[in-house]
Amino acid sequence: MQKVGVIPGDGIGPEVIKEARRVLDSVTESKSIALEFEEFPLGAGHYLKTGEVLAEETLQRLSRKDAILLGAMGDPRVKPGILEKGVLLRLRFHFDQYVNLRPVKLYEGVPSPLADNHRKIDIQFVRENTEDFYVGLGARVKSGISNTSLSLIRRAYEAKFDVGVDLKDEQELAFQIGVITKHGAKRIMDFAFQLAKKNGIDLVTSVDKANVLTEMYGLWREACEEASARHGIAKEFQYVDAVALHMVRDPERFKLLVAPNLFGDILTDLGAALQGGLGLAPSANINPSGVSMFEPVHGSAPDIAGKGMANPVGAILSSALMLDTLGHKAAADEIESAVKEVLRSGKHRTADMGGKTSTSKMTDEILKHLAHR
Ligand code: ATP
Repeated sequence: MQKVGVIPGDGIGPEVIKEARRVLDSVTESKSIALEFEEFPLGAGHYLKTGEVLAEETLQRLSRKDAILLGAMGDPRVKPGILEKGVLLRLRFHFDQYVNLRPVKLYEGVPSPLADNHRKIDIQFVRENTEDFYVGLGARVKSGISNTSLSLIRRAYEAKFDVGVDLKDEQELAFQIGVITKHGAKRIMDFAFQLAKKNGIDLVTSVDKANVLTEMYGLWREACEEASARHGIAKEFQYVDAVALHMVRDPERFKLLVAPNLFGDILTDLGAALQGGLGLAPSANINPSGVSMFEPVHGSAPDIAGKGMANPVGAILSSALMLDTLGHKAAADEIESAVKEVLRSGKHRTADMGGKTSTSKMTDEILKHLAHR
């Protein structure tokens, strides 16, 4: 029996998670997969009622799960950042989910912003999730002499930075430190190359800006080269600006992209746009030897919450990613095929795709295709 912690969260989160659960129930029953679900009422409602964002005891309970399925966090009644940082980022950090996996696929029948709508986009996008310019090290210093002590504490390492600045002829300066470690780069590269092997992909494209940020992305490249040799799969290096250009002009050229945190953050949203919008995009925050978390890319979308308009596909595909990661690839493939068939028909589209199909009707159609398999 595998255990799944479910965090429906805020806004459209509970609406799309309800639909993902319907699909999961159907496929696990037909395939005799034993999953046990426990819901955790985290999010704005819980915070406003109790003043608590994420209790230590809840973290402990979640750490005994095999996976977490999450809807969305964020609510206009709560100051931006409290729930996103307090729940989402805390979970990612606590469980050391160092891989952000965002498959970018343009399914037939989905309107894409590209002029040629019949592109065959199918990219495994692997974003490093814990380092780079998102380590939160920085400061603002005023003119004159100042010393700032910063520390980066991770499970696997600890780094202290004492930054002395002597600022002349300027009133104020702000700096931010980016960090790539050998440990961090090696593990993300290993994940990327293993994923390539699993999917029969023979080329990994590494994204960086090594011509300008030579130290950080020099180390990144070394790790990529070593992983390429270790796993026996070819690699290529591309600058982030070139990748952005090619993703729009010639997205078929990429099969698997591995990117540092900041560039990955930006490019994966470009990917979500190419695949038809936020409502369709799934994601996973993975620690291959820990608790991974699966969530649609979209946020809580308060403007459409409670209206039955939300597209459930991102959440449904995230639950398929979860099944795949839990070792149920056939079940995951069945869900993806059912989603593909519904989208290909073009008859059922939620409002974000320019249609009128409701959240639950969209799932009904997916369930029909699942039943026919
Ligand atoms: P956050 O800041 O919480 O990450 P965001 O800035 O990514 O959120 P979202 O809340 O995800 O923004 O969505 C932006 C807009 O896209 C929403 O206001 C909504 O109109 C639309 N949208 C997002 N997700 C969906 C969905 N699943 N179905 C339909 N429309 C959606």
